[in-house]
Amino acid sequence: MELENSNRPAKSPSIPLTPHTASQSAGLEARLGFEHSYAGLPPAFYALVRPVPVKQPQILRLNRKLAEFLGLDLEAVDREELARLLTGSGVTAHDGRLLAMAYSGHQFGQFNPGLGDGRAALIGEVIATDGKRYDIHLKGSGPTPYSRGGDGRAALGPVMREYIISEAMHALAIPTTRSLAIAATGQPVLREDILPGAVLARVAASHIRVGTFQHFAARGDTANLKVLLDYTIARHYPTLADTGSPALALLEAVIARQAELIARWMSVGFIHGVMNTDNMTVSGETIDYGPCAFLDAYDHYKVYSSIDQQGRYAYGAQPTIAQWNLARLAEALLPLIDADQDRAVALATETLGGFSTIFNRHWLKRMGAKLGLAEAGEDDRQLIIDFVSLMQKGASDFTNCFAALAELAEGGEADAGPLAALEGWRDWHTRWRNRLEAETAVASRLRRVNPLYIARNHLVAEAIAAGEGEGDFSVMDRLLEAISQPFTRREGLERFTLPPKPEEVVHKTFCGT
Ligand code: AMP
Ligand code: MG
Repeated sequence: MELENSNRPAKSPSIPLTPHTASQSAGLEARLGFEHSYAGLPPAFYALVRPVPVKQPQILRLNRKLAEFLGLDLEAVDREELARLLTGSGVTAHDGRLLAMAYSGHQFGQFNPGLGDGRAALIGEVIATDGKRYDIHLKGSGPTPYSRGGDGRAALGPVMREYIISEAMHALAIPTTRSLAIAATGQPVLREDILPGAVLARVAASHIRVGTFQHFAARGDTANLKVLLDYTIARHYPTLADTGSPALALLEAVIARQAELIARWMSVGFIHGVMNTDNMTVSGETIDYGPCAFLDAYDHYKVYSSIDQQGRYAYGAQPTIAQWNLARLAEALLPLIDADQDRAVALATETLGGFSTIFNRHWLKRMGAKLGLAEAGEDDRQLIIDFVSLMQKGASDFTNCFAALAELAEGGEADAGPLAALEGWRDWHTRWRNRLEAETAVASRLRRVNPLYIARNHLVAEAIAAGEGEGDFSVMDRLLEAISQPFTRREGLERFTLPPKPEEVVHKTFCGT
């Protein structure tokens, strides 16, 4: 392995999106129209790494719709050449080197000043059919200077897991990184077992994390912090460039996006599982699917992740943790918010205070819609909380309790549905019916917001077992078909709506790294 740090001079921070062209060759990336704006940033932002070619690159799954959206004509590309590129072996840009991004971050509350892409790399950016710039990133592409003793590789199981769940989140209209392809390496990786190795080609609005800002702040490198600020604003929040304090405006904008994102997670029963600051984007996309899970039985305190022993990242803790992470972003931005640091702290503190208000507004709106309300107000909060409390009391299936409301709204019997046997149900049902009198088109609203098909943990486990065990990806394909239209009931997909049987329940999820 050859590890190299770029020593090119820093580009002017005033033109942060200027593509770096010095070392592009006419390889596949160039033919696909890849750009390299991140590589135009100063050397401290990344390391360039000569890839270690893998034994037998092979495309296992290709997300054709996503490729089309990105404007990538992958069908025209030779499969072997594509497999070499998407395992990292065949990169030609940067003189045949992968770009591993530098970042830091708080992991379970402890600051680690040197994380970075330890098993991932950026191979380029594309301007998609929506006119926006997206990163094409490989996860599992081999060791980098940031590997900290790890092998830089990924096992097929976790790669399939991220592919399925990120695509499920996208179908639920939740901002997320997406999955373009799974490529096998033909090499085993050693975890608790010997497992088949694979690489995920991940697509993201960018891979800039709260931890990327922390990286430069922790080094007292205000010059590069400013470069990162300018680049982030140019890429994600261009209208903020001309505001009085772009750093404060960025903080405010990220708070708004994250508050909305977490409210959306809560509304589908999603638990991220590892909300470290390096796993939180400034774009507002969900990133880094590890031990994440969707709730089956509702439990506000639910934890699936095997490494989260204190319940730091439990379902109900997510809003508080998001705010904690954003406070770390605020700290990192302080030198750029105001030259007078006391004033910077006052401004940042006030801005952070806005998180709860914005989160609560989104939570009320989304959870209200899940009960059929066009516009939930503060007066509706108790009705929502009481429904959630019923689910908690009955350990009832989160997805199916909400899905059952559409039937009830259409005149279904009050004593039907997953909550009907619970004490307090009748009373709640009466209050709900009374509240609905002020509403129209309730059933269609309920069907639009309450999914039928989610990436249930036992279904994901089943798909992974088939792929990992027998190389059978048809189970994954069928699951993807169900969850790609989560709100549309279709014949033959009933089993995807069922909660797990007791013996199927997944109790723990694993990072798998
Ligand atoms: P994650 O838990 O995926 O957010 O990763 C945390 C950090 O550990 C990141 O810096 C990763 O790049 C690094 N990492 C995770 N797995 C590996 C691995 N197998 N080899 C090298 N680095 C890894
Ligand atoms: Mg991570």
